[in-house]
Amino acid sequence: MSWFAQIFGKQKKSPQQIPPLFLTNTLSGKKELFVSQKPGIALLYTCGPTMYGPVHIGNLRSYVFSDTLARTLSAAGYRVRRVINITDFGHLISDGDDGEDKMTKGLRREHMEITMDNMRALAEKYTTGFIDDLAALNIDTGEIAFPRASDYIHEQIAFIATLEQKGYAYRTKNGVYYDTSRFSGYGQLGGVNTSTQITGTRAIQNIEKRHPIDFVLWKPDAKLGWQSPWGLGFPGWHIECSAMSRSLLGQEIDIHTGGEDLAPVHHNNEIAQSEAASGRTFVHYWMHNAFLTMNGEKASKSVGNVMSLADITTSGYHPLALRYFFLQAHYRTPLSFSQEALAGAASALDRLWRLSREIAQESKRASAPSEARARFLAAMRDDLASPQAIGVLWESLKSEEYSPKEKWGLFEDADAHLGLSLLHPPKKALLTDGDIPAAIRELLERRETAREAGDFAEADRIREAIAKGGYRVDDRADGPVLTPTTL
Ligand SMILES: [Zn+2]
Repeated sequence: MSWFAQIFGKQKKSPQQIPPLFLTNTLSGKKELFVSQKPGIALLYTCGPTMYGPVHIGNLRSYVFSDTLARTLSAAGYRVRRVINITDFGHLISDGDDGEDKMTKGLRREHMEITMDNMRALAEKYTTGFIDDLAALNIDTGEIAFPRASDYIHEQIAFIATLEQKGYAYRTKNGVYYDTSRFSGYGQLGGVNTSTQITGTRAIQNIEKRHPIDFVLWKPDAKLGWQSPWGLGFPGWHIECSAMSRSLLGQEIDIHTGGEDLAPVHHNNEIAQSEAASGRTFVHYWMHNAFLTMNGEKASKSVGNVMSLADITTSGYHPLALRYFFLQAHYRTPLSFSQEALAGAASALDRLWRLSREIAQESKRASAPSEARARFLAAMRDDLASPQAIGVLWESLKSEEYSPKEKWGLFEDADAHLGLSLLHPPKKALLTDGDIPAAIRELLERRETAREAGDFAEADRIREAIAKGGYRVDDRADGPVLTPTTL
């Protein structure tokens, strides 16, 4: 069933049967009991990427987080209606409304002429890749609406016109701006730093701008864009989320998610636009995930340390190894990516898949309730405490205390919430299993024999040989792990 049919379809559980769920709301900074606006239905909006290039794994963390949230809501009994917007035309590169827009930059990089058609074509190419990445991470893309910003130009123009009519917008030679001083309570999500926006070149960019934190709603363009009451041009970036969220989910939505970097400017601006237009609460629960760093450094294209999902899979890792790696940390905890950490996640997930095959046979895929299942659910319903939930899973699987049926029940819950294909592990094994060349596997076996015999000089020599073959050996308590060094 599509997300649209789903929302109007029959509810899964009566709202009274839905168990309590707690979520950290950035608005209050506190963990709050989740209460949806419409009983049994959860409206969830996630800010999507600008499609000027492949998304990197730092972006993907944000979507695995919102998917885990959607799964947890759905497993509790909510119908979840999900939207991830796709930015497919130029918007200004920085929050400060200056710089070259990303789509133009993308077209230049690919030596394409800067036209509206090419912009759309470039965006569609990367959107396909993005949606494929989500699907590879077990995100059910058929249940998500992916509105393209360029398909909602009329709605965005109407939105800006409403803001202008209500006195929240003013015209300058360089476009229509939102007057933040008119919106009391601007910056509810915190983190607004007006002082840095006052200094530097940004304030001088448009001398007609009334306040440094005012932001553009409509940007004129000499050649490209759409016709509007303010001439040819483009909507500002922030307005697309306000307009598409209202069109697809209504004026008040339950949960809006995104990376924590979006909260101070983009999300505060969305609140200012939407609430000024509707006079109602725009979003009841704001949720933000923390950054992913690369070996401790912020991922950045200029540093050259960004990595795509394709980089991971071409090295032989299953995409779900990345999902497992993300889930090992709480979504609000900054996470550092490294080859060792990914290899560790891949090996742990591989062990889970092996255990699942064994337990499927022993239990004949019949499940039974247990106290471990209750603890697993309690962890997930407590602000998506996935590290604790994974801890319960491991501890219970290792324990003799639980019957195969009880363990299978735990796998069912874990699969519903975590999305790791635990009930139907992929046939193709992980890197730790199949993709490693036979010669490397043989070397690894010889090294293990040498180590057991205490011949560490020989073991080190073989380690060197393995390294020349493109793999690094990490000795762990549960055995050696191979990592491709080409990654
Ligand atoms: Zn957004």
